[in-house]
This record gives sequence, structure tokens and C-alpha cells, in this order.
Amino acid sequence: MSKPADTDLAAYSGFATNLDGKAMAALLRAEVAKDVAALQLRQTKPGLAVALVGDDPASQVYVKGKVRACQEVGIASTMLTLPATTTQAELLAQVDAWNADPAIDGILVQLPLPGHIAARAVIDRIDPAKDVDGFHPLNLGLLAAGRPGLVACTPAGILKMLSIYGGAHGWTPAGKRAAVLGRSITVGRPMALLLTNADATVTTCHSRTPDLAGRVAEADLVIAAAGSRHLIQGGWVKRGAVVIDVGIHRNPDGTLSGDVDYAAARLRAAAISPVPGGVGPMTIAQLMRNCTDAAARRRGISLV
Ligand code: NAP
Repeated sequence: MSKPADTDLAAYSGFATNLDGKAMAALLRAEVAKDVAALQLRQTKPGLAVALVGDDPASQVYVKGKVRACQEVGIASTMLTLPATTTQAELLAQVDAWNADPAIDGILVQLPLPGHIAARAVIDRIDPAKDVDGFHPLNLGLLAAGRPGLVACTPAGILKMLSIYGGAHGWTPAGKRAAVLGRSITVGRPMALLLTNADATVTTCHSRTPDLAGRVAEADLVIAAAGSRHLIQGGWVKRGAVVIDVGIHRNPDGTLSGDVDYAAARLRAAAISPVPGGVGPMTIAQLMRNCTDAAARRRGISLV
């Protein structure tokens, strides 16, 4: 093994395990494909409907990735591209139509939406049983109550990553101190709830949190979802910590970076997820999981 390129050799704890989200997502998709095949034996084919409003290039890429994943696992997908001039009433009418359509098990309206459409109104209109993004207040409430429901794909995918890593390394969130950076309903907030439900002791950090470095330094598990490039310096990370980087930032040279300074943090961490190739692929695979679970649950079928 070559020497680490860090000036602080005292901090060196061995190169961290790379939490390979691409490989883990392939495992999760294979598991989902088996369940989709089991549903098909019972004359059920899960169906996902996706609405994309406007022509945001990043959203177009995300939606294409989701449709491709559907094809791979055998989920029927309906993709509707609507012009940026679509009114809120028109979008809500489309959601109503999908809510009423028995062939649709999951509804996803890609965010962000154009400014004249209130995302909250759209989220609230989706049938909670088809809310595969897990953003509906009912599903967030179930999560807060520690009851089963549909959970947002990014945090649910991260929990799966931790469970795969934990299974191989005898690690569990139970009893650990976790720092979650970010409190959005898409990532930070549901992540903190999931980890609390998994018996971790969780500190949720946000833009008003004093001494962020101190909160990270005391954490055995760090989930970085602040949306700020390289916010977390390698020296902040506790030796032996598990670090999950949710952030995605495009660099001027076209490459991607995360919220964590990966090169420095991996010298101290026990395990760390890269950007790209970490949380991103797991988020899409988890969407397939949610859609398949929604299809089974709506028909009273147990997949275990
Ligand atoms: P968001 O809605 O903008 O929320 C960011 C959160 O981070 C907010 O709660 C904010 O605090 C907090 N924050 C901002 N600056 C901070 C700082 N300096 N210290 C501590 N907390 C800080 O973003 P999001 O949707 O949760 O996404 C976060 C990041 O993850 C983005 O880079 C996004 O692109 C990425 N993402 C990746 C995936 C994936 O699949 N890989 C999925 C979703 C999101 P306040 O609440 O006080 O404003």
C-alpha cells in the first residue's frame, strides 16, 4: 500500500472502505427485479408515472435514469414531459388522473418545479399510497412515529448502504453518535428520523448550527447533505467514522464533487461513499424498491 498523501500522518487510520454505490445499487436492483417477477406471477406489474415540468437539463438526466432503471427491473414506466408554462391546476389534474389509475403504483413529480407551481400543493395531492418519493406529510408522519410507510429514496437508500456495509463489517448504527448535516424533507430530516428509529443518537445540523466541525468530530457516522462543496474537511472526521456524502456539485472542469473533502477524509474514516458513484445510484435503485413495495402493499401482497 502506498503512503497516504496527507501531511498529517498521525491522523492516518488506513484507507477507508469505499462504499461503492454502483455495486450496491446493482444488488438492490437485482433484489427488486426478483420481487417484480414474483408480482408478475400474481398478474401484477408495478407501474411508475413520472412528470417532468419544464426543460431543466439536470432534471432531464435524473428522470431518464429513473426510466432506465424501471426497464431494467421490469417496472412499467409512464413519462410525461410538460411545458414550463403548465399551470398548477393542470399538473394537479394530472396527479388526480394518476391517483385514480389502478395501473399506476408510484407517482413522482420531478422537483424543482417552475416558480409558479407550489411544490407543496403537488406533494399534498399525491395519494400517500403512491407517494414513492416519500415527501407526503402522511408518510413523513409515519416515519416520525416509527411506523411503516414510504420513505424518501435518498435516505432510505443510505440506510440500505449502511446495512450492506454493516453486514460485511459487523457495524450497526445502533448506539452510535450520528451527525446529519441538512434538514430538508428530501434528505436530512427523514435521514435523522431513520437513524433515530435505528437506535442511533442523532444531531441534526443546519445553517444555524454553531461549531459544525465540533459536531462532525464527535460523530461515529456523518451524513453530509448540506449542499456545500467540500464543506467537511478531512481533519474534522473522527478516526474510524463512517461518512456518507450526499452532496453533488459540478466543478468547472465538468467533474463532480461532494460535500466532503473525500481525499482527506478517507485517511481518517473507516468507510466513505464517493461522489460520483455513491449515494446517487442507490437513490434510483431505492425508487424501484419503493414502487415495488407500493404495488405489493396496495394489493395486500406480502413480498417476504
Ligand atoms: P437543501 O434543500 O438545499 O437543504 C440543504 C440543507 O443543508 C438545509 O437544511 C440547510 O440548512 C443545510 N445547510 C446549508 N449550508 C449549511 C452549512 N454550512 N452547515 C450546515 N448545514 C447547512 O438541499 P437537499 O435537497 O437536502 O440536498 C442537499 C445536497 O444533496 C445537494 O447538494 C443535493 O444536490 C444533494 N442531493 C443528492 C441526492 C443524490 O441522490 N445523490 C439526492 C438529493 C440531494 P437550513 O435548513 O438552515 O437552510
